[in-house]
Amino acid sequence: MRQAVVLGASIAGLLSARVLADAYDRVLIIERDETEGAVPRRGVPQARHLHGLMERGRQIMEELFPGLTADCAAAGAPTTEVLRESRWYLSGLRVRPTDTGLTTLLASRPMLENAILTRTREMPGVELSRRAAAGLTGGRAITGVRLADGGEVAADLVVDATGRGSRAADWLAALGHERPAEERVDVDLGYSSRLYRRKPEHLDGDLAVVVSTMPGFRGGGAITLEGDRWHVTLAGMLGDHPPTDPAEFEQFAATLPVPDVHEIVRSAEPLDDPVPHRFRGSLRRRYDRISASPQGFLVVGDAMCSFNPLYAQGMTVAAQQALALRACLPAPDPARFYREAAGAVDVAWQMSTGSDLRYPGVEGPRSLRSRIVGAYSARAQVAAHHDAAVARTFMRTANLTIPPTSLLAPDIAFRVLRAGRR
Ligand SMILES: Cc1cc2nc3c(=O)[nH]c(=O)nc-3n(C[C@H](O)[C@H](O)[C@H](O)COP(=O)(O)OP(=O)(O)OC[C@H]3O[C@@H](n4cnc5c(N)ncnc54)[C@H](O)[C@@H]3O)c2cc1C
Repeated sequence: MRQAVVLGASIAGLLSARVLADAYDRVLIIERDETEGAVPRRGVPQARHLHGLMERGRQIMEELFPGLTADCAAAGAPTTEVLRESRWYLSGLRVRPTDTGLTTLLASRPMLENAILTRTREMPGVELSRRAAAGLTGGRAITGVRLADGGEVAADLVVDATGRGSRAADWLAALGHERPAEERVDVDLGYSSRLYRRKPEHLDGDLAVVVSTMPGFRGGGAITLEGDRWHVTLAGMLGDHPPTDPAEFEQFAATLPVPDVHEIVRSAEPLDDPVPHRFRGSLRRRYDRISASPQGFLVVGDAMCSFNPLYAQGMTVAAQQALALRACLPAPDPARFYREAAGAVDVAWQMSTGSDLRYPGVEGPRSLRSRIVGAYSARAQVAAHHDAAVARTFMRTANLTIPPTSLLAPDIAFRVLRAGRR
């Protein structure tokens, strides 16, 4: 009997388990949290903050779980065309409303995760065990997992999906393996989030507003969630963090470059108190560059690469990695998996860090490429304000459905550069 063990039952772990279930007799998911119900839990503190699901991620989730979007919609999560009934402001300018062919699923993060968990557990051979992993067993090849309660579980494959706080590098080092190099881009981002009762007249009936955040420009957003609620997140970079005191929260909302979010904050009934989150920086662990990755062990999701959440890429990259894993079945070789996954990770990493490194206060390695990407994407944002073709292409690249190089197609580049001259 072939057994795969997945550590962590969040988005990356569940999507990995889903694809492994097609090739392994048993897939054991080890998760230290209680996972009953669509509620935020300790191991996923970010679930209390705004989570946008990019279209590429939704498409993959739909492919892995046909009908998932409809399930969420039936449970009350609104779906809409990305630039319709949603207001996107980049650099303080509204992206021109136009049809993009992209769907927004406005499910809360706990609802989405719970829907994926329910469907994953229905897969033959999948089991969930509420325990904590504490290490790996084996030598040159990994043969299983050590648990915090002293037990051990044998596995033909172990997948670490324990998130950004993953200890896999230490676990591998304890068995004599090389640690992955780390790349960081520090943004010192702060979030503060609160739920409100939604009334149909808010934002003239629109379902979402997103205001981009940059050093010197506070941002955030408000998104309609299931249960007629607004999920409001305020954000600030480089230490300019939004407060959690309710009165100060409202004052911070008033300082955003556009009034839409503040309108909700000052007029809607709050349903809880603001909660904070601090994100120091994007972090990429280069497992793909380890010269001899041990067989029987893979790292996925935020444990491999955690992106600045402002770009809403994490869940989608986790979904792309699940497809990479599927391409490596029935017996995934680590070097091949990291190669397959690298394309998606590279694109998202270059898009988000390239954009962040535009700002002098952001710490991280700058290359000529990152400078060009940053300058060009700033121009594209301005062009997207009045040019529907640029708006459509920009939103599709941000949603990871087309490569960022699509913004360099001659017709689009002409429009972007013309906007820059204005
Ligand atoms: C503030 C914030 C906002 C974000 N917004 C977005 C967004 O808008 N869109 C988007 O796509 N992404 C967003 N992300 C990223 C997104 O949350 C993650 O990319 C996504 O959850 C995938 O992460 P993961 O499954 O790898 O790890 P996580 O979601 O961090 O989950 C790790 C899991 O492992 C479990 N675990 C940890 N250690 C152990 C152990 N030793 N034993 C057993 N279980 C363990 C935890 O309990 C948890 O269930 C955001 C992130 C942050 C921080």
